[in-house]
Amino acid sequence: MLIKKGIPVSPGVAISQAVVVDAEDQPVPRRVVPASQVPDELKRLDKALTESIKELDKLREQASAAIGAEPAKIFSFHQGMLQDKHLIDQFRKAIQTERVTAEFAVFSVMRELAKMFRQQKTKYLRDRVSDVWDLEHRVLANLIGSSRAALSHLKGESIAIAHDLTPSQTASLDRNKVKGIATDLGGRTSHTAILAHALGIPAVVGAENITTSVNTGDTVIIDGNRGLIIIDPDAAQLMEYRRSLQRQEAFEDALDEVAHMPAVTKDGAKITLLANIEFPSEIPAALSKGAQGVGLYRTEFLFLATETEPSEEEQYKAYREAVKLANGKPVIIRTLDLGADKLTQRQSKEEPEPNPFLGCRSIRLCLQDLPLFKGQLRAILRASVEGQIKILFPMISSVMELRQARMILSDVMEDLDDEGIAFKRDIPVGIMIEVPAAAIQAKTLAAEVDFFSIGTNDLIQYTIAVDRSNERIASLYTPAHPAVIQLLKDVVRAASRAKIDVSICGEMAGDPEFIMLLLGLGLRSLSMTPPAIPEVKKVIRSVTLEQCQRVARKVGSFDSDREVTNYLRDEVAKVLPEVIDGRSAEY
Ligand code: PEP
Ligand code: MG
Repeated sequence: MLIKKGIPVSPGVAISQAVVVDAEDQPVPRRVVPASQVPDELKRLDKALTESIKELDKLREQASAAIGAEPAKIFSFHQGMLQDKHLIDQFRKAIQTERVTAEFAVFSVMRELAKMFRQQKTKYLRDRVSDVWDLEHRVLANLIGSSRAALSHLKGESIAIAHDLTPSQTASLDRNKVKGIATDLGGRTSHTAILAHALGIPAVVGAENITTSVNTGDTVIIDGNRGLIIIDPDAAQLMEYRRSLQRQEAFEDALDEVAHMPAVTKDGAKITLLANIEFPSEIPAALSKGAQGVGLYRTEFLFLATETEPSEEEQYKAYREAVKLANGKPVIIRTLDLGADKLTQRQSKEEPEPNPFLGCRSIRLCLQDLPLFKGQLRAILRASVEGQIKILFPMISSVMELRQARMILSDVMEDLDDEGIAFKRDIPVGIMIEVPAAAIQAKTLAAEVDFFSIGTNDLIQYTIAVDRSNERIASLYTPAHPAVIQLLKDVVRAASRAKIDVSICGEMAGDPEFIMLLLGLGLRSLSMTPPAIPEVKKVIRSVTLEQCQRVARKVGSFDSDREVTNYLRDEVAKVLPEVIDGRSAEY
């Protein structure tokens, strides 16, 4: 038995067999497979070699046409190596006698081969090392790519163990079979973590070297409350966690009872609870958890879950489905927040940006790619006649950017008018406040929009300069930082003076420990991942506004996030001890 620790990002417990997927750009860990799996590994090897040879065929043809037959011969040389009987025998022997995975067999044999070439006296032979690297990379991409693809077609229930999962890989997981997730990389509010939470899959990220500690087929417990991964648990632990699973189900049933009670404080203040969604199909479950509408629809996930960029028509259908499912309740559609860790089909093939979170992301990308932006705005406006849609622009960092986005929206409206297509002319337009510059300029921006939605996931990362998806600095990432709280206070005040709506849609809004502070700061609308709604509602129903205002005042007197966190934890434990029970002590 082995226990590893990581960052808990999606609560709950899962017990199942592990399926490990390696990363293409990392050393492949030595992993032994059961004897029964050896024939499958041999088949995977053959398939990867055949695929690689086919790719080389294509490359040779392309290169031949572009640069001539002679230089293109390098690809024939590569093909020859991959067909070399001696080399193939070495791969097969490693799988058969050492019972290692096909990827480790290729990795270890190719590394030996590279070493041999490196020790040669002749420069020509030493230069062959780069060919070996190239070939190793090609075959591994085919092997690891296929094991990643297998995650979406699992045979039975499993726990996915990976170096990292991109949001699009997480979005395409087979939700009925993947019962838990553990990754080496990742942070509290990385989009993979957010998605796992929304899908209700217990997950622990940032577990550093979990992929080298687990083998496919091992029994693993994911404790998404405490951030633990237990490998090969003993009987006592299995029993304890099975009991905890039952307790979890009972707790969820009890919480579901509050789902349809009003979200009102003990002294009668009405709070609006909304859902953050990635796909319209999440809406019925969100409403059944008590959501009063959709506060954040992350539309970029339509791009992440498909092979090709969705057309205007496909986007329109998704938005129309969302308003239909919302059944008269409001739906805030956020325009594309692509870039950084959420790449379009085109971007994922391009050279990565050096600082993607500070790069051509979100509204910046849309303003540089008008056909993309206009296509989405047309789709949203066309769907606007079907229900209560509001438009939300993400990552606004200056007034000019907002004006530019609004101008393009007006252009699109004019085009629709010319084409005789109906849309709601007075559709409310809001912005995300998630860049410190926007929070500081909140008063100015408030004069030009109908509402604010505070995105604390990014606001925290940009205010404290802490990458939200980097596990190495995860302990620095906290909503309790006094600078973040000061910005929240200023934004809420600016919105209330301008008499515009303000809501909060970062993960902080779904964390029971921060609810008293948020209400005390003046927020009356919170948007969160649907599974969090009942617990948050329970906190709201257990407090008075006066209590919350006192909490907010006290928090304002602290200098450090540690003091804030400890104080808030104690305060919520006083009103609702069971909410905090079993949660992690770390954010
Ligand atoms: C945020 O930044 O707080 C937010 C809600 O948006 P996302 O997590 O999609 O960046
Ligand atoms: Mg954001």
